Amino acid sequence: MKFKNYKSPKNFLDAMKIIKSDRNAVVLGGSTFIRLSNKEYSTAVDLSNLNLNCITETESEIKIGAYTSLREVETNKIIKNHFGDYFSSALQNIVGVQFRNNATFGGSIFGRLGFSETISLLSVLDCTLDLYEYGSISILDFIKRRDISRDILKQIRLKKEKGKFAFKSMQNTAEDIPVLSVAASKRDNILFTIGARPMIATIPTKAVKKANSGRLKKSNIKEIANIAVEETKFGRDHKASAEYRRSIARVLIRKALEEVME
Ligand SMILES: Cc1cc2nc3c(=O)[nH]c(=O)nc-3n(C[C@H](O)[C@H](O)[C@H](O)COP(=O)(O)OP(=O)(O)OC[C@H]3O[C@@H](n4cnc5c(N)ncnc54)[C@H](O)[C@@H]3O)c2cc1C
Repeated sequence: MKFKNYKSPKNFLDAMKIIKSDRNAVVLGGSTFIRLSNKEYSTAVDLSNLNLNCITETESEIKIGAYTSLREVETNKIIKNHFGDYFSSALQNIVGVQFRNNATFGGSIFGRLGFSETISLLSVLDCTLDLYEYGSISILDFIKRRDISRDILKQIRLKKEKGKFAFKSMQNTAEDIPVLSVAASKRDNILFTIGARPMIATIPTKAVKKANSGRLKKSNIKEIANIAVEETKFGRDHKASAEYRRSIARVLIRKALEEVME
């Protein structure tokens, strides 16, 4: 990554003016991903003056500023009190602690990477993103809306709901990107998502409907996992074949659903 100018605006309006007026300006998160490319940008927009680095809670929500590091989200007490080890079990697999101290939670979402553990884990929660220009949008709508690209992610809001949550992923080696991930939640209903297919997380709607159509029993889980795998598209890349991903998906879905049923 190269850039000619560096700007650190003092308010959102100034930041947005730069992003809107210059198609070649880039918002910096922790820069872990964008620095991998040789692309030349006109202006790098650093949002660290905008107080986006904090986690707070209200009676009904947890709010995570977009510049909060992955490591802070992984270890934060407010998040642990509500979601137990759910967030840490997903985020602890991302490279190493030094990396997670640098990478931001917002950058991990805005990049919409197919293998993103962050997106998989948020997809089964009541999660809203607050963008400066667009306004509020659910995580599931955001990942479909690739046209939302010139905006600023301010914060991520999670509804506090009682429930059970499970995250399972498979990596070829420790610290590698996942070749498959499954996140599941049981709140009023059961919801699960399959990510790193290698495409971005998706909800297998027929299988989820089946899981919620009667009392989910352990004996049904295998059938539900099979339905999910049948309806979901898997692809191949240098990490794994589509067939391998299908096999792993069956196992991880079963494990995740068993865990939320316990
Ligand atoms: C070697 C390596 C291994 C990785 N392994 C994994 C893995 O195993 N699992 C996983 O889930 N992820 C993995 N990642 C992805 C990693 O999580 C992302 O690189 C990182 O989270 C991006 O965060 P960042 O803060 O560095 O974002 P940046 O790289 O700074 O930005 C990413 C994108 O988001 C935009 N952006 C950032 N913040 C904002 C904002 N507030 N508003 C609007 N746009 C914004 C940037 O303009 C850019 O387009 C890996 C990355 C690398 C480099």
